[in-house]
Amino acid sequence: MLVTGGSRGIGASIARLAGASGYAVAVNYVRNASAAEDVVQAIRLGGGEAYGFRADVGVDEEVRRMFAEVDAELGKLDVLVNNAGILGSKRVEDMDAATLTGMFQANVFSMYYCSREAVRRMSTKHGGKGGVIVNMSSVASRLGGLAGGSHYAATKGAIDTFSLALSKEVGGEGIRVNTIRPGLIETEIHDVHGGMNGALAKSVPIGRSGRADEVARVALWLASDDASYVHGAIVDVAGGR
Ligand code: NAP
Repeated sequence: MLVTGGSRGIGASIARLAGASGYAVAVNYVRNASAAEDVVQAIRLGGGEAYGFRADVGVDEEVRRMFAEVDAELGKLDVLVNNAGILGSKRVEDMDAATLTGMFQANVFSMYYCSREAVRRMSTKHGGKGGVIVNMSSVASRLGGLAGGSHYAATKGAIDTFSLALSKEVGGEGIRVNTIRPGLIETEIHDVHGGMNGALAKSVPIGRSGRADEVARVALWLASDDASYVHGAIVDVAGGR
C-alpha cells in the first residue's frame, strides 16, 4: 500500500494501521523526513514492513520517480491512498496565482499523477491484477470550507468529481475507486488557520472533532475485500457535519 502524505496526520495513521494489518507500506512525504522515519520505524517495530519515499506528489517527474522506487522496493502495488494535501487560508480578493497553483498541484494534480501510475500498474488492461484507490477529499467539497478556504474547498470538489469519473473509467479493469470525506480531524493541517478551537469542534453534530485513526479505519475497510462491492462511493467521516 502506498500512502501519500503518510508521514503525519491522517496519512500516518493509515500507514501505521496498514502496517499492523499486514500490508507492506510505502510512506510518502515531502518535507518531514523525520516524521516519515518515525512511521516507518513504528511499523517495523510492530513486525511490519515499511519504507519512506520522498516526493512532491504535485510534481509529475517526482511522482514517476517515486513509483519506480516503490516498484523496486516493494513490488506490485495493491492499494494507493491519495491522501497528501494542504489547507490554505486566503480570501478570494487576496488570491494570487502562486497560492492557487500550489493548492491545485498539491491537492488535485497529485491525484491525477499518482492515480495514473497506479492504473498503469493495476489495470487488467495493462496486464495488472487490479487494485484499490482511495482518495482523500473533505466535507469542504459540499460545505464550502472554513473562512478563507475557497481554494481548498474547490480542490476537494474536484477530487469528488475526479474520483467518480475514475471509478467509471477503471471499474471494469479490476480497480475499485472510492473517496473519503473527513470532517474536522485533529491534525497539524489546522495550524494554517490558528489550530482547531473548541467552539469549532463543538459545532460538529456529534459534539467533538475526530481523530486520525477514525478516518484510517475507514480507509483500511475500503481497501479490504469487506468493501468488495463498494465502488465510486463517497464515505463521509465527519461526525454528522
Ligand atoms: P497534515 O497533518 O497536515 O499532513 C499532511 C501530510 O501530507 C503530511 O504527511 C505531508 O508531508 C503530506 N504532504 C503535503 N503536501 C505534500 C506533497 N506535495 N507531496 C507529498 N506529501 C505532501 O494533514 P491531514 O490533516 O492529515 O490531512 C490529510 C488529508 O486529509 C488531506 O488531503 C486533507 O485535505 C484531508 N482532510 C483533512 C481534514 C482534517 O480536519 N484534518 C479534514 C478533511 C480532509 P510532510 O510531513 O513531509 O509535510
